[in-house]
Amino acid sequence: MKPFTLARPHSGIEAIQAFKSREGGAYIGGGTSLVDLMKENVLSPSLLVDINALPFDKVEQDGDKVRIGALVRNSDLAEHPLIRERYPMLSEALLSGASQQLRNAATVGGNLLQRTRCYYFRDSASPCNKRAPGSGCAAIEGYNRIHAVLGCSEQCIATHPSDMCVALAALDAVIHVKGSSGERAIAFDDFYLLPGKTPQRETALEHGDLIMSVELPEMPFARNSRYIKVRDRASYEFALSSAAAALDIKDGIIGDSRLALGGIATKPWRAHEAERVLKGAKPDAATFEKAADAELKSGKASRFNGFKIELAKRTIVRALSDAGRTA
Ligand code: SF4
Repeated sequence: MKPFTLARPHSGIEAIQAFKSREGGAYIGGGTSLVDLMKENVLSPSLLVDINALPFDKVEQDGDKVRIGALVRNSDLAEHPLIRERYPMLSEALLSGASQQLRNAATVGGNLLQRTRCYYFRDSASPCNKRAPGSGCAAIEGYNRIHAVLGCSEQCIATHPSDMCVALAALDAVIHVKGSSGERAIAFDDFYLLPGKTPQRETALEHGDLIMSVELPEMPFARNSRYIKVRDRASYEFALSSAAAALDIKDGIIGDSRLALGGIATKPWRAHEAERVLKGAKPDAATFEKAADAELKSGKASRFNGFKIELAKRTIVRALSDAGRTA
């Protein structure tokens, strides 16, 4: 690990000023992902801005919305009564990620910004356009079993690793950030960028932007939502495929739905195509299979990950079936 300077600001403005005081800074909350990458010399920030003294550690009801501070620990969020009751898919997604010890330390803001588990990104000897722009992509012709089938580009096929973010994508979350020119809100669908020609740029954040909170809108039918995760082993493993689903069923017909996918795409993937199929249809196996087919129609497999297309379809059908049973 390379030497770095540590700053400990006591306000958001101080944090942003410290961050912008030099090139190559990084904010640190729990550090569960960032410190690993620093030890492996994949990331070498010259400055760490420790934001743990900032007042971003509450889960609060705000009118009919719920506001989650960026420093809320993953385990606290998963067990919070407001989340368990109103957004169970989010609680299930959080509890399916990492280990209890990691969830106790990891923050919501850090989870939003965690980096891909692509082996080549984490091996500083391999070409990787995300880590070293213009160097190439070792995964496209390499061992790409864990890589994405949706949202890929010729520059990068890395999957987004988060479980929490799949639920946030389905729940229409809004990210609140503070920058040097003030505060702004970013819709979750706009927060993550597709890799395109610039895979090193992963979010809509600008230099120095500080994530303050995540807002969840009121969504009554999310009270019966589900998160399904398929992985190589039962715990402490990233998703090969996952789905967060909620259905609003009235008089035997799906009035509204939310569906997002993980483990198969370059960003937390809101399944808009599937949601279009679900609207106004009967909540049965035939509808769910049709929705899954529609979403994966544009799926593009690499040499070792073709199985993910069928796996994702089955994950969608299972998540929708479970959500339909509880609706
Ligand atoms: Fe890097 Fe993306 Fe290629 Fe992985 S898939 S080696 S992260 S450019």
